[in-house]
Amino acid sequence: MTNPFQLLGISDDVVNAVKELGFETPTPIQEQSIPVLLEGTNDFVGLAQTGTGKTAAFGLPLLELIDFKVNKPQALILCPTRELCLQIANDLKNFSKNIANAHVVAVYGGANIMQQLREIRQGVQIVVATPGRMLDIIGRKAIDFSNVKYVVLDEADEMLNMGFQDDINDILSTTPDEQKTWLFSATMPAEVRRIAKKYMHEPVELTMGTKNTGNVNIEHEYYIVRARDKYAALKRIVDFNPEIFAVVFCKTKLDTQDVAEHLIKDGYNADALHGDLSQQQRDKVMQRFRERNMQLLIATDVAARGIDVNNVTHVINYSLPDEIESYTHRSGRTGRAGKTGISICIINSKELGKIRQLERIIGKQFTKAELPTGFDVCEKQLFSLVHKVHNVEVNNEQIDQYIPRIMDEFADLTKEDVIKRFASLEFNRFLDYYSKAPDLNAAVGDDRGERGERGERRGRGSEGYTRLFINLGSVDEFTRGDMLSFICNNGKIAGKSVGKIDLKGVFSFFEVEDDVADKVFEGFKSVEFNGRQVRIEKSGDGGRDGGERRGGGERRSGGFGGERRGGGGGGFRGGDRRSSGGSGRREGGSREGGNAGGGFRDFSGRSRDEKGGSGRREGGSREGGSGERRKKW
Ligand code: AMP
Repeated sequence: MTNPFQLLGISDDVVNAVKELGFETPTPIQEQSIPVLLEGTNDFVGLAQTGTGKTAAFGLPLLELIDFKVNKPQALILCPTRELCLQIANDLKNFSKNIANAHVVAVYGGANIMQQLREIRQGVQIVVATPGRMLDIIGRKAIDFSNVKYVVLDEADEMLNMGFQDDINDILSTTPDEQKTWLFSATMPAEVRRIAKKYMHEPVELTMGTKNTGNVNIEHEYYIVRARDKYAALKRIVDFNPEIFAVVFCKTKLDTQDVAEHLIKDGYNADALHGDLSQQQRDKVMQRFRERNMQLLIATDVAARGIDVNNVTHVINYSLPDEIESYTHRSGRTGRAGKTGISICIINSKELGKIRQLERIIGKQFTKAELPTGFDVCEKQLFSLVHKVHNVEVNNEQIDQYIPRIMDEFADLTKEDVIKRFASLEFNRFLDYYSKAPDLNAAVGDDRGERGERGERRGRGSEGYTRLFINLGSVDEFTRGDMLSFICNNGKIAGKSVGKIDLKGVFSFFEVEDDVADKVFEGFKSVEFNGRQVRIEKSGDGGRDGGERRGGGERRSGGFGGERRGGGGGGFRGGDRRSSGGSGRREGGSREGGNAGGGFRDFSGRSRDEKGGSGRREGGSREGGSGERRKKW
């Protein structure tokens, strides 16, 4: 039987490569664009959401059109973020793996430019680049674009949104006038239209679905809560979905960090992704998320752009984005590659108007959902546990030797008793936590207590807490999340016992519950960090509060040596933490001991050398928007 990609005009070498990737039939966008692009004579505008198979839609025709005998850049693909750049380059390398002499290079900020220049010098036909680094390389006269025949502008709306318009103009001024330009965009604001007009001649236009229509595989829901209940609502949504694998969007870096830290403290497997992290830190967070060693990725819009992680079950808008257009990009992180997904907005009743606006723009109705009651959550978790027990893989070889003793232990119990007790083991924790859980659903117009959900959560006063000094701080590359894990690991205490963490340059302060303070002192008695004794003192003992420079002479650079020694009973990573889901993550639950084991973050091998540099611009420092032209609410 002829392969459907072959029928579209793709050659055997490429068909075999995509077959290996599991592409059996073309996606709608591939079906429509491949024949058009294969002609190689048209400019092209494709209005398509992320996750629809766009990369192959332009990548496969490119591979057919390029002359791989010639070792010169013939195609340039521009995209907004480093993550997307790597993704596209990687896809193209996979698609072209059976083509002799095919060379693809990824050019992006935040990485060693010398290596990229070397690859370019060795000869490439396809350059995938983020605009900032591309301009840098052009400025060094290190690339010759005179043979470029095809330029692809991927996620054009995002590139413009990030302020790359001038960079794009400058780059395109170095490519031949006769080149064909293929533009892909999820939305078509006026600025994208203008670019299309400027660089294209009667482009063929294809729209996948109706204009601005959200992905059909995504359902949109909203929950109305009082602002102060937002965090509790987030937790409840997560608890009600034990298998959730989600991206949670916040508006600012601060909120992102704050929500992530609270989730970590409350025992969830979460981490933050935002532009204040070094590139290396961001890569690590993304790697953990990709490998599903983390369940909740808390991200800003900019940091999450271009993230291509399959099987994300939910996108949660913890706060609605500033620009309406961003909603499409956020929700496009789920429902990818034909899968279904849910995009959730947690709003207060004043924001209902924004939901109506979104409905008009994406042409889909949002469902008003009710937050589950505590009882609903308990029930859901219980049956998730039951399901897990039923399906668990039994290692007979290992377990058989213990069975007689286990049977002995249970000899006085009926089968029903055993089941009841077993289920209660986890279920009780949920019951404890949720037995008095309030109804979090707010009625429209119910804005009581809007003053400050964050204040409430943060307002964990210092009463009952002991404030401690530690001779480590942000110069040691600790984030507050790192510090939390470090304290829990070494002090052998649960995250819930730690109060405010005040990260300074060369030292920090943190609060712990009064009754665990001695334990923390004990735990830190002989802890070394990078060959240096870690010191903990009661704040005020030496007047530390005032003196940032105290201990400054002890600094040395980077690296986390062996501070994880002993591991502190740690490490949810790589284990079944994700699937253990909500169970045991309750405040007050005995599972907190596991939390104290920490190990949420891989401390090893961190370096600072990737901070700064032009690359930060691509994925990071434009965060927060730079007076953009996008439509506000
Ligand atoms: P993209 O929109 O290019 O980021 O693609 C989204 C996801 O769909 C990626 O994980 C691709 O590997 C996958 N994909 C693209 N085309 C196909 C296809 N024809 N069949 C199956 N999966 C595909």
